[in-house]
Amino acid sequence: MPYETIFFDLDHTLWDFEKNSSEALSELIAKFNLLQKGVSSVDSFLKEYFIINLRLWEDYRKNIISKESLRYDRFHQALKKFEIDDFELAKAIGNEYVAIAPYKTNLFPYSIEVLKYLKNKYMLHIITNGFEEVQHLKLRNSELTPYFSEVITSERSGFKKPDERMFLFSLDLTRANAETSLMIGDSLEADIIGAKNIGMHQVYFNPEGIPHEEDLTHEIRSLNELMTIL
Ligand SMILES: [Mg+2]
Repeated sequence: MPYETIFFDLDHTLWDFEKNSSEALSELIAKFNLLQKGVSSVDSFLKEYFIINLRLWEDYRKNIISKESLRYDRFHQALKKFEIDDFELAKAIGNEYVAIAPYKTNLFPYSIEVLKYLKNKYMLHIITNGFEEVQHLKLRNSELTPYFSEVITSERSGFKKPDERMFLFSLDLTRANAETSLMIGDSLEADIIGAKNIGMHQVYFNPEGIPHEEDLTHEIRSLNELMTIL
């Protein structure tokens, strides 16, 4: 059956999270004088932070920790790697981070070209586990807003990918069917397995070619491959 609706993930799929986050963190390291306080280098901080952030995002996705803990603990834990145990500092950095990161606008190559191409043929929506106030800013600032009809965050639906209720909420809201919809995302667990579980086809965006055993509909390393598939 031909596709009618395409759901995109945002972070690490269109919005280049790692690049944007690195820019924001570099600014914060300077602003809060972290190199003077004991952080050995910008790169070593980024490395520690990305590992911790990924782990805490998983905990957040599984409802083990709150949004607040995610925002502050990732910095608290990263600072502790450099023997800086200062929760107030972590909190200040955490607040500043969510204030500046959504203004970063690096996208993965071909994002705009592909969206222009797809927009004429399909209904496009975003499904993201990110925060409501942050994701809309990212979309607007990186000029992605006009391509999408609905932006469904986990806060809006009340559920997080891969919970099937997140996908069912999205289908209901957009009046779409799983059989004629496609999910495109970078997370095997949240995006691909989540969509597959409700009978939706999937495109796994795997730019680094990470090996896996999952049986999926399509896999791409670059977004421009979507113009061949769709
Ligand atoms: Mg993602």
